[in-house]
Amino acid sequence: MQASGKKIAVLATGGTIAGRAASAHDNVGYSAAQMGVRELVATLPALAALPLVCEQVAQIDSKDMSFAVWRALALRCAHWLAQDDVGGLVITHGTDTLEETAYFLQGVLAPAKPVVLACAMRPATALLPDGPQNLLDAIAVAGTEGARGVVAVCAGSVHGAQDVAKQHTYRLDAFTSGDAGPIGYVEEGRLRLLREWPSADPAAARQKLTELAARERWPRVEIILNHAGAGAAIVQALVAQGVDGIVVAATGNGSVHHDLEQALQQARASGVRVLRSTRCPQGAVLGRQDDTLPHAGTLSPVKARIALMLELLDQRRSGT
Ligand code: ASP
Repeated sequence: MQASGKKIAVLATGGTIAGRAASAHDNVGYSAAQMGVRELVATLPALAALPLVCEQVAQIDSKDMSFAVWRALALRCAHWLAQDDVGGLVITHGTDTLEETAYFLQGVLAPAKPVVLACAMRPATALLPDGPQNLLDAIAVAGTEGARGVVAVCAGSVHGAQDVAKQHTYRLDAFTSGDAGPIGYVEEGRLRLLREWPSADPAAARQKLTELAARERWPRVEIILNHAGAGAAIVQALVAQGVDGIVVAATGNGSVHHDLEQALQQARASGVRVLRSTRCPQGAVLGRQDDTLPHAGTLSPVKARIALMLELLDQRRSGT
């Protein structure tokens, strides 16, 4: 893989990668989002020779991710992607909602250049922090000729926005691409590509982003869970609140308790969009002939929620 030699924009949003703890031995009792982007980049002398531009877009623990931060981040990404001398972007981000941000950005940017999320499981003050290597690897991917789409880099693996999911609460190799497997690996600063990059369609995505950016209120889609003893109450409460869509994290191959299913059908009849995904961490929901509710295929509940949100937005735009 060739390096593009173009500028890379590093956009920081916070997370553990920018976290600090009182003791170097403490990998859990730290505060995320403490170090600024310039300080982060300065911890890696190897980066001094590279053409980087840095911007602090937010400074949050990603568990607190909001639509306001997504809006700001997506717009800043669009700005930097439009610069001819910028070859790719790196976004430093917490691990907790990284997969949601990755999927959201792929949906509203579908970039022809690489947008690479970098993260860490240990704070920057740890005895052996993982953030610096992850950042270095992410910059290597962002600078790779021919790279495109939104991906995440963690512990040497490159995951696509569609498949990436946090699978572990503590280990450094915290992400998986499930059945699909990673897009590639970063080894000694070089990318070993295993399969296709996420698809690019920046022109279509730009319309979506323009629409989202202009909207005060984004469609409200909530996630509920199927489980033993699941019932109608939560669905009824959400419908009464005027929710636009409901994603159910169903059991197994998209199965839903009959009491909950009935409530979801009623919600649908009253105009609320309903989508079934599965609470199983691996595999897709496979359609059956007797399905009464649509399903989200391979999308996890959190990604199905974003997909539905963007779809609702599209519908409003086209007035259907
Ligand atoms: N709570 C942190 C965050 O998501 C966890 C991490 O970054 O690993 O910002």
